[in-house]
Amino acid sequence: MTQEISTAQEPIAIYDLTLNIRVSWQAHSLSTIGSNGSNKLMPRRQLLADGTETDACSGNIIKHHHAVLLAEYFEEAGVPLCPACAVRDARRVAALTDRPEYPEYKDVMMSQILSRCGLCDAHGFLITAKRPSRDQIEKVSQEEVEPVQENVAESALTQEGRQRRSKHTLLDFSFALALPDHHAETAQIYTRVADTKDEGQMLMKMTTRSGEYALHVRYFSVGIGVDIDKWQVIITDEQQRLLRHKAVLQALRDSLLSPDGALIATMLPHLTGLQGALVIRHTTGRAPMYSALNHDFIERLQAIADKTCSVYPFHSIDTFNAQMNKLIAHSFPCYPASYLQKSSYSTSSTEPDMEERNRHGKRKK
Ligand SMILES: [Zn+2]
Repeated sequence: MTQEISTAQEPIAIYDLTLNIRVSWQAHSLSTIGSNGSNKLMPRRQLLADGTETDACSGNIIKHHHAVLLAEYFEEAGVPLCPACAVRDARRVAALTDRPEYPEYKDVMMSQILSRCGLCDAHGFLITAKRPSRDQIEKVSQEEVEPVQENVAESALTQEGRQRRSKHTLLDFSFALALPDHHAETAQIYTRVADTKDEGQMLMKMTTRSGEYALHVRYFSVGIGVDIDKWQVIITDEQQRLLRHKAVLQALRDSLLSPDGALIATMLPHLTGLQGALVIRHTTGRAPMYSALNHDFIERLQAIADKTCSVYPFHSIDTFNAQMNKLIAHSFPCYPASYLQKSSYSTSSTEPDMEERNRHGKRKK
């Protein structure tokens, strides 16, 4: 329902959440496509469906900065980080599997990864499969009575190779796309110290951009502490899930109120506007999104609101901040329906009321 978040009501269950935003940045260069070997640093551009070319910032850069900030919030809250995330290695747990000093990560299980690291849990990771060496496969096949190629490879994998393990990120970030009639850029010459002393100073041409950007963020809250490939809850402790959930929201709030990206050392953006709608799906399903490229995006989203889906609009940085702070204080991540049902079916023959149970954030004992 369309409303302000009330702190008097019961805690807010979040299954899935989207932020549908129109943000204004002046004089920035948050995302570029590099210089391609020239002395001109080129801005990022994106074609829209009607062929219009507009200014753009990659979601990569916003996601990266959210992850960096989230690690700081996790440390503050006492949420564990794996040794890779603790030193801000962006490969996360995948950086540890071949390191002899971390033997416990050689054949690490999904449950161990998610328990040991809040950042791997929230932002995802990929440990690639490693095939065993040819020698190892031949050795095993000679030992097998009836060698079947696939089974041989599988059994050898556990000895020399490695199983693929991955978790998709719970936080998705879109490109920030400038409204076609609301962006501009200024080309400027900058001096830069060259790589060698003989070359002296280099002249670089860079553009500084200003615009109103449409941006989406989606947070799949139900996936906190969950192996979302096998759909199994790993972190069963409600308090631990809540700590992770709150930190994700805190870092999201800050990412938008204090923009971060490329070239901020000398082109920190002027944030001059923030409006949009926070959309929350309270029960199984997905929170709808509608782009701020459309001028009526807030009204259209508000018209979607119903019992299972709340829409909270904001028209300034302070109302956004207030809505986020209320969510941080009064929301919690839903459990997957299968997890809630598992124990209730053994004790009750009645149809489980998922909405009611998630509202209280607990498994029925
Ligand atoms: Zn990690």
